Amino acid sequence: MPVPENMRITLWGTRGSCPSFGSSEEIQNLTEKFSTATLSYIQDRLYSESGLAELRKLFRRSTKEIVGELPISHSPVFGGETTCIEIETSERNLIILDCGSGLRSCAEEILRKRSKGDLRDIYLFGTHGHLDHRSGIPFAGICFADPPFDIQVFGCSGFLSSLDSRLGVFSHTTTEDTYLDDPVDYAAMTASFRGTELRAGAGEGTSHPGQRWKVRDLNEPVIIGSTKVQGFRSYHGATECLGYRIDHGGKSFVFSTDHEKLPHDLPSGSSLGETELNKSLQAEKELVGMCRGVDLAYFDGQYLSAEYLGQKSIGTAPPLSRVGWGHGCIEDILDRVRESKIKHTLIGHHDPARNWSSLEEIAQILLELSESDAYEVELARDGQRFNL
Ligand SMILES: [Zn+2]
Ligand SMILES: [Zn+2]
Repeated sequence: MPVPENMRITLWGTRGSCPSFGSSEEIQNLTEKFSTATLSYIQDRLYSESGLAELRKLFRRSTKEIVGELPISHSPVFGGETTCIEIETSERNLIILDCGSGLRSCAEEILRKRSKGDLRDIYLFGTHGHLDHRSGIPFAGICFADPPFDIQVFGCSGFLSSLDSRLGVFSHTTTEDTYLDDPVDYAAMTASFRGTELRAGAGEGTSHPGQRWKVRDLNEPVIIGSTKVQGFRSYHGATECLGYRIDHGGKSFVFSTDHEKLPHDLPSGSSLGETELNKSLQAEKELVGMCRGVDLAYFDGQYLSAEYLGQKSIGTAPPLSRVGWGHGCIEDILDRVRESKIKHTLIGHHDPARNWSSLEEIAQILLELSESDAYEVELARDGQRFNL
């Protein structure tokens, strides 16, 4: 089995808030688009090739080669699973960032990999406790595997608490909250979960009151083999949320989702004040610093600025101010990319109301921008892989 040179990064879930897939109409349109492109390719060749022998030679090539020549630049399909990103390092360590619904497919691949060779422990880093960032756990084969996996879980208190209150994975106890989301709990799982809370300013010997997990300083990087994972605070309204920078083999990747940069002029009537604005701007400043010169970054770009400010609708929903909802704007990401000089940027946490064609429109604008700029920026798609 090939071992990645440095880091192999796979996006398993890039939708925001709730899983959202293409409608039957979108799938029908896509089928027609591919059929039309295929037929026009064949027609063109029928008229342009000089004879039957040339035509036979042309079509004797592999299907993959022919498909690559179809007049479709890339697939307009945008995946629908919620946040989950996997990093496999050259040392065969697995780092999983968030466990949204994308974790189900991620886990299937991990089990396939394990059946072909050895894999080291799994390290799961969570950003926060919202459902779209943890809903994949009860459906992930790695939690029920034999032999069992050892899963080390890192995150803020809210992330660890949400996993424990719903599944009892750290405390091995159940409460009346345990079965609110799913009918399973830790007892049905073979995996052993060991938690570490990342808390700013936590000194040596700080412990969680119930001793359900260890506590360590957020500002101290977590070292896994030769990989360094540095957590940092994002701004997600009242919800504590972390981002991560991963460095391995001289390459770097920043993962930041559910982060909102509040506008300097807060809308009139907003319940948000100076304190919240300062927290948001401080988190943005820290993020810009974390991203300086990185090779790859993944950000939450759920809205366009006009949608965020309530001047424009998304899908069929009426225009609505989304200031204070905890998510980011694509325009702010572009500013961040230029300020931090990020080589390659992926924009995810796509709004569930945004259909394939509107995502495709944004993708085209970003493609044109990237061609005229020194930095590459694109919309994230489920299933994308990057080798750093
Ligand atoms: Zn989210
Ligand atoms: Zn959230």
